Formats: sequence, C-alpha cells, structure tokens
Amino acid sequence: MTLSCFELGETMLSVNEAMTALMTLVTRTTGSESVPLEKAHGRRLAADVTAPINVPQQTNAAMDGVALAWPDTRDTRWSVAGEAFAGQAFAGPVPAGQCVRITTGAPLPEGTDTVIMREQLDEQADHVTINAPERIKRGQHIRQAGEDIRAGSVALAAGTRLDAAAMGLIASLGYAEVSVTARARVAIFSTGNEVTAPGKALPPSAIYDANRFTLTGLLTEQGAEVIDIGILPDDPNAIQQALEDAARQSDLVITSGGVSVGQADFTRQALQSMGQLAFWRVALRPGRPMACGLIGEQQTPFVGLPGNPVAVMVTFSQFVVPLLRALEGQAPSLPRRLTAIAETALKSRLARTDFLRGVYRCDAQGVLHVRDTGAQGSGILTSMVAANCLIELGDDQPGAQPGEAVCIQPLARWP
Ligand code: AMP
Ligand code: MG
Repeated sequence: MTLSCFELGETMLSVNEAMTALMTLVTRTTGSESVPLEKAHGRRLAADVTAPINVPQQTNAAMDGVALAWPDTRDTRWSVAGEAFAGQAFAGPVPAGQCVRITTGAPLPEGTDTVIMREQLDEQADHVTINAPERIKRGQHIRQAGEDIRAGSVALAAGTRLDAAAMGLIASLGYAEVSVTARARVAIFSTGNEVTAPGKALPPSAIYDANRFTLTGLLTEQGAEVIDIGILPDDPNAIQQALEDAARQSDLVITSGGVSVGQADFTRQALQSMGQLAFWRVALRPGRPMACGLIGEQQTPFVGLPGNPVAVMVTFSQFVVPLLRALEGQAPSLPRRLTAIAETALKSRLARTDFLRGVYRCDAQGVLHVRDTGAQGSGILTSMVAANCLIELGDDQPGAQPGEAVCIQPLARWP
C-alpha cells in the first residue's frame, strides 16, 4: 500500500517515493465541460470521440482525370458520358465502355472503379485517348469510403490532448462541440520579504520575482488556469490568510520559497493551523526541500516548491505535471526519456538524482549527443533558457564521463 504524504516523516525521500506519495493528495477530479471546437486546442478529451460517419463519406477520386470501369482489353479511346465535380456527383450509372470527367474529391460514379489522371490523357470534347494503358492498375487513384475512419470506430481516445491534427480530425467528423476535462484551477504565490514584483524599484538586497512567471508559463503549457495571488511576505498570518483564500477558489495551491530549513517556520506555522502538511527532503538536485499537504475545509492539495528558480522548474516537471494529470482524471505517465551520449563530463552524486540542464543534438547517423549548459547553480535561470533537455543522473550514478550513455528528458515547451 502507498503511504500518504503524512506518514513519511522527515527521512530523505527518493524522487519516486515523493512522486508516489504526492499522488495520494488528489482524491477528486476537475470534471468535464463541453466547449466549441474552435476553443478546444490544447484541452484534454473527457470522453472517446466516436465517428458518426465514414471518413471519407463516399468512395472518391484522388486525382483529376476520368473515372471508368477498367476492362481487361486495355481500350485506349473512351467517349465521355458527363462530369463529376467535388460536391456534385454524376447522376446515374456510367454506361459500359464510357468514362466520366472527374475532379479530386468527387464521388466515384456508379459503375466505375478506376481513375486515370489528366496527365495520361489526350482530351477532346466528346472523348479521351489514354496514353500508356499498360501502366494502369484497376482501382488506382481512388480513396475508399471509410479508409481514414470507419463509422462507429473510436477516432480519438479519452485523455487525448487536442493538437492541430486532432482538431481537424474532430471537425472532419462533423462535431462543432467537444467534451473536455475542466481546466485545473491552480493558485500560485511567491513568498519572501526580498522578493519584488517586476516593474517596481529593486531595493538593495532584494530580488525580482521570477517564479510566478515561470509557473504561469509552465501551468499554461499544461492547460491549467492560473490564479495569481502575488507575493507574500515571510509572515505566518499573511501566508495563512492567503492559503485559506487560495484553497477556497482552486483545485491546487502552489507556492515557491519558504520551505528550506531556515525559512520553513513561516510556512509551517501557517499550514499547521489550517490543514495537514508534510515537509520533505527529496534526494534531488536542484529541489531538495519541498512541502505538501491538504489545506482548508475543502482539503485542497498544496505543494510548496523550493525558492530557487531552476529548482521550481525541475520540481514542477517531475511532481506538478503528474499531479495536474491526476486532477484531470488521468493515470500517471512517466516523463518522456531518451538516451544520449555525454559530450562533457557530468557531475552527480550517489544516492541523489541530479537534473543537469543540457543541450542535446542528433548527429548525421541519428545518434543523440548531449552536453551540459555550463554553470549548474539552482538560481541560474539562464541555464534553463539555454537548455533543451534535463540530463537525469539517477541515485545509482556518481556522474558520467564523456562517451557514456545518459538519460535525458527533452523539455517539451509546447503541448
Ligand atoms: P527560500 O527557499 O525562500 O529560502 O528561497 C531560496 C532562494 O530562492 C533564495 O535565494 C530566494 O531569494 C530565491 N527566491 C525565492 N523566491 C523567489 C522568486 N519568486 N523569484 C526568484 N527567486 C526567488
Ligand atoms: Mg524565502
């Protein structure tokens, strides 16, 4: 049985232990809603989309030319019985031995089985002559009804994130609305007396608030709705008030900062009075201190991320992404992992998972190579900007030498 967040004590947790325990925080999902198809990009299907029709609806021409019933005799001269355009079928069967001029997408006239493209025809007013008839195969240049999607089949499964192709597919089935999971409402705030909003003058020994903006970007990429509560001072009363408000109006509350040992007391005091919480040390770099809990009457899940900007992004990718999936009723999925050859020596430590910021590339042979981005401090946000992947060096790896195969997690910036 999985232990809940609150039964783990203050031992050092592995990334997997922390992830598994965090998932127990989610006990209800966001539900579903119907939205117009044009608003559905990036949303997640709440139910299977079943095809009400064949796509294409009718067997039709894949080329401009003529449609005919191809005989064994390889006749070259065919009289023209009429025309079929896309959206306008030829009425009635085509008399034996005759053909119909046809454009791409037009329904194949009754009595024909083959399309000959224009480039292979000499066209006259009332007849055509076919060049190189020996190259023609019966049934060529035809799209069969239902060859893309059969009526009654599942065209897209519940849980699918709707990208451009999926949007087009749903439209091709005739649906103007689609049932999607409701967006998770995620309240975020930054903590720290030194943290200053961009646009304001920066006092000496202060720092601009980066985390609310990386979190806004990350949450938006994941299809969540952001409720931005702003910056809170290191003051338990202010934090408690804000957490209570946030819990009332959201499905998940995320804070950054205030969970490291020197700082934990403010958040700890605030949380202890209003819910269950756990403070963790995760064997992870960057991102060791984390808090989690259930807050307010609503028992809203809460995750307290570290303060350092890179740690925020790394812990988000490992812990918050699966939580958001769970809130939308999805089974957890593992991060996307690839293997690449290290081009530089990579530093790590045993009994800890290190996520280095990396740049991977593919060589002419299709082999992936990866180097780190240089200085790896957990406050160096330029390392995240430069990176296109995280290099994951697990608990059993003391580091990697150039030429060694390592695991990378590509940073998928867009859904
Ligand atoms: P803390 O966990 O609160 O001790 O924060 C760890 C480090 O992250 C400190 O250097 C903070 O100044 C920094 N930090 C905390 N919150 C933010 C933020 N919102 N934006 C940028 N840096 C932050
Ligand atoms: Mg702080």
